[in-house]
Amino acid sequence: MEAATERPDAPIAGAGSGSVVLDVRGMHCASCVHTVESALKRVPGVADAVVNLTTEEARVRFDPTAASIPAMVQAIEQAGYGAREKTAEVEAQAQDEAALALRAAQRRLLLAWLLTGPVAVLMIIHMSHVLHLPYFEWFEVALAVPVLAIAGAQTYRQAVRSFVNFQPNMDALIAIGTGSAFVTGPLSLMGLPVASYTAVGAMIMAFHLTGRYLEARARGRASQAIRRLLELGAKTARVIRSDAEVEIPISELNVGDVVVIRPGEKIPADGKVLSGASAVDESMATGESLPVEKSPGGEVIGATVNTTGVLYVRVSRVGKDTFLAQVVKFVQEAQSAKVPIQAFVDQVTAVFVPIILLIALVTFLAWLVFPDAMLAMATALAAYLPWVHAQNASPGTLAAFAAVAVLVIACPCAMGLATPTALLVGTGTGAARGILIRSGEAIQTMRSIRVVCLDKTGTLTTGKLSVTDVVPVPERTREEVLRWAASVERNSEHPIAAAVVRYAAEQSIEAMDASGFAAVPGKGAEARASDAVVHVGKDAYLADLGVNLSEIRETVDKLQAEGKTTVLVAVDRQVVGAVGVADTPKPEAASAVRALKEMGLQVAMITGDNARTAHTVAQQLGIERVLADVLPGEKAEAVKQLQREVGPVAMVRDGINDAAALVQADVGIALGTGTDIAIESADLTLIRGDLSTLVTAIRLSQATFRKIQQNLVWAFGYNLLAIPLAVLGLLHPLIAELAMAVSSLNVVGNSLRLRKFRV
Ligand code: ADP
Ligand code: MG
Repeated sequence: MEAATERPDAPIAGAGSGSVVLDVRGMHCASCVHTVESALKRVPGVADAVVNLTTEEARVRFDPTAASIPAMVQAIEQAGYGAREKTAEVEAQAQDEAALALRAAQRRLLLAWLLTGPVAVLMIIHMSHVLHLPYFEWFEVALAVPVLAIAGAQTYRQAVRSFVNFQPNMDALIAIGTGSAFVTGPLSLMGLPVASYTAVGAMIMAFHLTGRYLEARARGRASQAIRRLLELGAKTARVIRSDAEVEIPISELNVGDVVVIRPGEKIPADGKVLSGASAVDESMATGESLPVEKSPGGEVIGATVNTTGVLYVRVSRVGKDTFLAQVVKFVQEAQSAKVPIQAFVDQVTAVFVPIILLIALVTFLAWLVFPDAMLAMATALAAYLPWVHAQNASPGTLAAFAAVAVLVIACPCAMGLATPTALLVGTGTGAARGILIRSGEAIQTMRSIRVVCLDKTGTLTTGKLSVTDVVPVPERTREEVLRWAASVERNSEHPIAAAVVRYAAEQSIEAMDASGFAAVPGKGAEARASDAVVHVGKDAYLADLGVNLSEIRETVDKLQAEGKTTVLVAVDRQVVGAVGVADTPKPEAASAVRALKEMGLQVAMITGDNARTAHTVAQQLGIERVLADVLPGEKAEAVKQLQREVGPVAMVRDGINDAAALVQADVGIALGTGTDIAIESADLTLIRGDLSTLVTAIRLSQATFRKIQQNLVWAFGYNLLAIPLAVLGLLHPLIAELAMAVSSLNVVGNSLRLRKFRV
């Protein structure tokens, strides 16, 4: 891993640094996330900590010589939450615990409604003045006490803890809100001039518990996508041990084992086919819906399904190295990555609860001290909002009413869920379609992309080069041209060189021994053979060397106009002939280009090939913008040029070679190569290695960010509108609590709709 290609947001373990994932319990809103993060960052030696509310985990980078995991756990516990290192067992245990916690929440909820129901009925009867209920207030208080003290016990405990830590959270708002609503009952029984809102307090708690319960369930659903991926793997494998087939649990499988896979069975791990032939359904890994033919030598991916024949496979990767494990790891990392917009949300939520407490206090005092002014303001505002009306009750009643409404309406819950739930569903949906979103930042940047720049060879074309023409100059032969060319090229690793050498061998032409080989990247190569200096490469390269090309010019023009890469051969600086090398566009390339253009994006092609060949290929694919004759080290510079001229660039290329261009681009998209998807410099990886999912990937990233935006607009907008109404006593606390529960459910539901994403 090169430092230059590392993504800044990747949870990396560099030299001398450690990283750990902690399982954190007890968080339920954005302010909890903030509390845990800052508690971790205060531990000496902790470099960075990112906490995810939805997956309930903290990813910590630290200096192992200064910080220890127990110290981090202790810090989190002191902040009022539970923590432990996340191991496989903990993960399984955490799932059981989550189920238990959900059931406990259900019980609390039932108790709350069982007691609140009768109070609600009585309250309606009492208020409608049909019946005057004697001792109604007493009865109300008697039923409300267990609702708050038993069903609401956890909420109060957490509220107290958050105050002790000087970081009041959402529980604090609910606790003070319900608490002060409750005391109005006893106060009015004591003869003070306030109406009793005790029943309202109990109902707020019941609504609160309901909202939280539904939200926890929906959150569980949002993280299912990734859990389902993990469950896809086979549980057992049939291994050949001393000529017999033995069935063993997957955990005992080793690299080098030979496994048998019958039709209909899952392939237990990544490996290479030794014998047998079959078609394998790889849709879960690559998104490719058609089964892929496998024969000896072919690579297979663990967890994909064997369909027709029996396969014998030598296992090459097990456990956390498998393709599936890597996908899951990358998706989990992306789910914890911070989308830049989140930084702003974090800043707001960090100060949100204290500010709300202050507003509630000011509201309360304002209604007590200036009741007339407040009522006048409320009446004025109500005139514009025909559905609300100002009350005329005692100042004490209105003060309590308004302050409680402020406390319960202003819950940062929806804000905390806005980004993580959308990320979770977006990345999970992508993974299921062969799209690996690896950076949170890319999701935000993708929205502003103006141009998609694709590599020619291997990205737009198959990269399987073949020699199509060999044209000698007069008084030379085809054989001579090929012999000289092959003598140099067999020392080169360039794909063009491989094609030339292969073709020469097919023509039974023997290459000569060469010495002093030197490659000139992006241009060609030279070597000495049979006492002559031989140069092989593009026309510009030979022209620079002072070779006279007039004899071959016409041939070069013709080959390039046909879209062929033209390799010239010169012996002692005398041109002997030209070799035409063709590459075929990928079958899906033209339609991918068209779809990109339909999205309003500019499409550009970048290549080291000459301009004429490049333009011919570009024309076949419908690409107007061509960056040709770009030297290998200059691709990043070319991307920069595009950024200056057009705007943000998404660069697409196969994962091989230099990463600089991918890093320079605003979004780097890599095509996967087989089971290797760990392309460090890429923000997105298209697992299938072709362009068919490119448009889907761009659309999905954009859709995910749109969800984040919608969620945030909703969560913030709702608070901005509702708080002034609450301050002026125009919002009933019950409606406020109901709206608040609906608000966070709406955010989660909105994110979940991403699962239905279609292009
Ligand atoms: P690409 O952008 O397609 O990867 P390269 O930068 O690898 O292109 O090479 C650019 C051009 O340089 C090739 O199109 C070819 O004309 C020439 N070239 C580079 N290396 C060789 C070689 N070993 N033999 C012949 N031509 C070469
Ligand atoms: Mg290349």
